[in-house]
Amino acid sequence: MYEMIVIGSGCAGSTAAIYAARASLKPLVIEGLEAGGQLTLTTDVENYPGFPEGIMGPDLVDRMKQQAQRFGATYRHGAVTRADLSSRPFKLWIGDEQLEAQTLIIASGASARWLGLPSEQALVGHGVSSCATCDGFFFRGQPVTVVGGGDSAMEEALFLTKFATDVTIVHRREEFRASKIMLDRARANDKIKWITNATVTEVADPEAKAVTGLKLRSTANGKEWDHKTSALFLAIGHVPNTDVFKGQLDLDEQGYIVSHGGARTNIPGVFHAGDVEDRVYRQAITAAGAGCKAAMEAERLLEAEG
Ligand code: NAP
Repeated sequence: MYEMIVIGSGCAGSTAAIYAARASLKPLVIEGLEAGGQLTLTTDVENYPGFPEGIMGPDLVDRMKQQAQRFGATYRHGAVTRADLSSRPFKLWIGDEQLEAQTLIIASGASARWLGLPSEQALVGHGVSSCATCDGFFFRGQPVTVVGGGDSAMEEALFLTKFATDVTIVHRREEFRASKIMLDRARANDKIKWITNATVTEVADPEAKAVTGLKLRSTANGKEWDHKTSALFLAIGHVPNTDVFKGQLDLDEQGYIVSHGGARTNIPGVFHAGDVEDRVYRQAITAAGAGCKAAMEAERLLEAEG
């Protein structure tokens, strides 16, 4: 029986673990399928306070984990496959193994969104990717395409210019959601080409088990055309990892946890932290702050209960 289990090991989960461990709660952190969270898929983090020269994303989360372990947090591999939040202690399963905890901090984050095309799904790992830092290297000397219009799309495109002959950004609108600084950087890079007002309707060629091109459709007039490329990188946002809590926790229509004030969910003793609830800010620093709040609220609850 644990006093606290933290689900997720990104910025939110590890910050919660640091605070809980320092409060002697001996938290167990279940790392999840993407251990370390979204920062493990990024390169330089330039906006996390305290690192004026920037820090590599994987390095930052690894340091947080070490900090939590130093105070007695335990990390274990695996992902929660089932949860019963109907009474305390709360029950979680990792496959057949059952765990129990007095408090839970859900910091399971969000995962990359896909377009949902059958041809796209058939080619994941064969030229279709949601992680330029993981897979960009494989497309050295080839043309690649990034879909999306946010900061992630700009970041991925800029990173890919290190390897690719050219990088085409395909975006479904004329205006970009990306911040001005990221957009300006991408616009200043000669290797980046732009196709706006277009969506991907098909990825070729699942039979060849490789990406050879895309079918694009104009959102203005519906016309379709072929676009040659060797890889497709998706940067179209994220979906929260809350499937195992459906029907138990209050979730909004997109699956994000609905906050009941502070770090509280609708179930006393279950707290949220980070991108699993935050659909607005989604930053490393806000996730870390949310992890801190969740741990402090859980600690106060346990203390009040004696
Ligand atoms: P985002 O800001 O939500 O942008 C997602 C983009 O994908 C939007 O341009 C959206 O188009 C497009 N999109 C969504 N669904 C689509 C679909 N089915 N087909 C085609 N396009 C689709 O997500 P993000 O870029 O991942 O950024 C998330 C957060 O992380 C933001 O707060 C961002 O600032 C932050 N971030 C910061 C940095 C940095 O500062 N270095 C780097 C990466 C991310 P519409 O615009 O038309 O909706």
